[in-house]
Amino acid sequence: MPHWSSLIREVPDFPKPGIVFKDITPVLADARGFAGAIDAMAAPWRDAVPDAFIGIESRGFIFAAALAQALGTGFVPVRKPGKLPAQVIAHDYALEYGRDRLEMHADALRPGARVVLVDDVLATGGTLRAALSLAQRQGATVTGAAVLVELPALRGRALWDVAAPLHVALQG
Ligand code: IMP
Repeated sequence: MPHWSSLIREVPDFPKPGIVFKDITPVLADARGFAGAIDAMAAPWRDAVPDAFIGIESRGFIFAAALAQALGTGFVPVRKPGKLPAQVIAHDYALEYGRDRLEMHADALRPGARVVLVDDVLATGGTLRAALSLAQRQGATVTGAAVLVELPALRGRALWDVAAPLHVALQG
C-alpha cells in the first residue's frame, strides 16, 4: 500500500447522513504523500503527455495543475456555473436528487487537442462524464482520465463510454 493512500481519511456522514466521504486533504498536507499521489497519477501519461490536463472544480484543480507541472504541459479548468469570466459552453447532468451543471471556456481547447480529464474521486461518474462531454464538444481528443480514488461500489465507470483508458491510482 503506497504511503499516500494511507493518508486518505474517511469522514462518516459527510456531506449527508449515511455517506462516508473520502477526505484527500491529509494527502495534500504531506509532502511525500502529495508527491507520491502525483507520481501515481502521472505514470500512465509520461510516454504520451497530453496537450492539457483538464481539472474538474474543485479538488480536480489541485491534481490536474500538479500533473501539468510535473509533465510540462497545460491545465484547463472545468468549473461550476458562473465562475468562468469569458464565453462558456455548459453541460447539464443528473444527480441522485436534482441536476448539476459544469462549464468550460468556449475557446479553451483547439480541435484535435489531446487532453486528459482529472478528478480526485470517481463516485457515480456523472461529473467525469459531464467533463468528457464538454471536451468532446470542443473537438478535443480525450486520451483518457486520471482519478486518484475510485469508489467501485457506485459503478461510476459504467458512464465512461469511450475507449480511452480511465486510470485510477487507488480503488477505495
Ligand atoms: P460523481 O459525479 O458521483 O462521480 O462524484 C464525483 C465528484 O464528487 C468529484 O468531483 C468528487 O470530487 C466529488 N466526490 C464524490 N464523493 C467524494 C468523496 O467521497 N470524497 C471526495 N470527493 C467526492
